Amino acid sequence: MTYDLAVRNAKIYTMDRDGRVIDRGTVAIQGDRIAWIGQGALPECDRAMREIDGEGMVLFPGFVDTHIHIFQSFLKGLGADHRLIEWLNLSALPYGRIMSPRQHMLAAQLACMEALKSGCTSICEFFYTNQDPELAHACIEGMRSTGIRSVFIRTFQDTGEEYGMPSEFIEPADAAMRAVEALKKRYREDDMLSIWTGPDVTWSTTKRGYQVMLEYCRSENVRYSMHLKETEVDNEMCLRYYGKDIVDLLEEIGFLTDKLLAVHCVNLTPDDIRRFAEYGVSVSHNPAPNLYLGSGVPPIPESLRAGVNVALGTDGAASNNSTDMLETMKLAALIQKGIHRDASVITAGQVVRMATWSGARAIGMEDALGVLEVGRKADMILFDPRHLKSFPNHDAEATVVYASSEENIDTTIVNGRIVYHKGSFACGITEAELIREIAVEVEKMKGR
Ligand SMILES: [Zn+2]
Repeated sequence: MTYDLAVRNAKIYTMDRDGRVIDRGTVAIQGDRIAWIGQGALPECDRAMREIDGEGMVLFPGFVDTHIHIFQSFLKGLGADHRLIEWLNLSALPYGRIMSPRQHMLAAQLACMEALKSGCTSICEFFYTNQDPELAHACIEGMRSTGIRSVFIRTFQDTGEEYGMPSEFIEPADAAMRAVEALKKRYREDDMLSIWTGPDVTWSTTKRGYQVMLEYCRSENVRYSMHLKETEVDNEMCLRYYGKDIVDLLEEIGFLTDKLLAVHCVNLTPDDIRRFAEYGVSVSHNPAPNLYLGSGVPPIPESLRAGVNVALGTDGAASNNSTDMLETMKLAALIQKGIHRDASVITAGQVVRMATWSGARAIGMEDALGVLEVGRKADMILFDPRHLKSFPNHDAEATVVYASSEENIDTTIVNGRIVYHKGSFACGITEAELIREIAVEVEKMKGR
């Protein structure tokens, strides 16, 4: 047997149900799948067209970033030190109005290349503000060009002017679902891209908007995501208009399902957590923006204990201010230990699982991603602990979560392809080139 690619001599964290770790093992890839995995070298009769020597390195499933806003990669630092609604009105909303298709495309390359460089192999773009289809296509084009696996969430707002949502972003939910359907048709051949939808946030969605979206998602089997209970404002609007808590409203209309990826969930109550577990709702936990915007710390250990699937996200780079999954993992662990005054409340192993298998489950790909085993998609990263920050490496999960940075990511493989290796991207774009092009566009944007 001749495989396309093999990674040999690595310590393999399979992240399978038994938590199997293979010392000095080999993973062989055929096409887009893992075809062989085991201790030592490949059987003598087998070979690989290309081999990567993983000596001294650790192989993990690739990370899944379950929440990002790509256009915000152009807005790092804008609106700094303001709370959510003020920050939105100073940063994301006004700039979301004026960015061109080319700027969206470059922002996508910037975000996705940084993601690949920090060990992320799948990314979920929550596309909101200006819904011009040309911008969506430019963003998708930018994501695809980097070789990352992506989910593109074409969201909608059907109200929200009183909270500062520009009127041109607001559209009827039926029109939004037609646009989602058009995107699905256009990209149906691309198995590296999934199209989802979702309401942006409680205060920009009517009850009818949720219902129209749900009807569409049920009939077309489409997954959906939304910002939920990020701050108290989320609930305030719901209480005023519908006289009930947002999670009660969502439960009543049948919105709480295993197709929902709920983002932030800072203010979940014990009863919300119980219902999320019961309905199979996934949570995207984004610790950096929750701290940056002063929103608070979500009840993650409580959610995990209740059996909620909790994945991780970076959120947009205007509230992070980067797309670095390694940093997100460290924050996810440390803030819980701090507020609970208990170092054991969340472990490095749990955080790695949140970044891998739980991320895969959150995007409906738990049978294909998140674990290194034969038959699954070949999405993985080679982590090199031999840097000052991360050496010595006594416990690879602890090293990844507490003592790592981009420099540790030696190789990122997505769908069987090496997309990032020792500082170079297979897409052919260099960091210096991309930075030069973006600098020109940022000047134009500021001019407007
Ligand atoms: Zn967000």
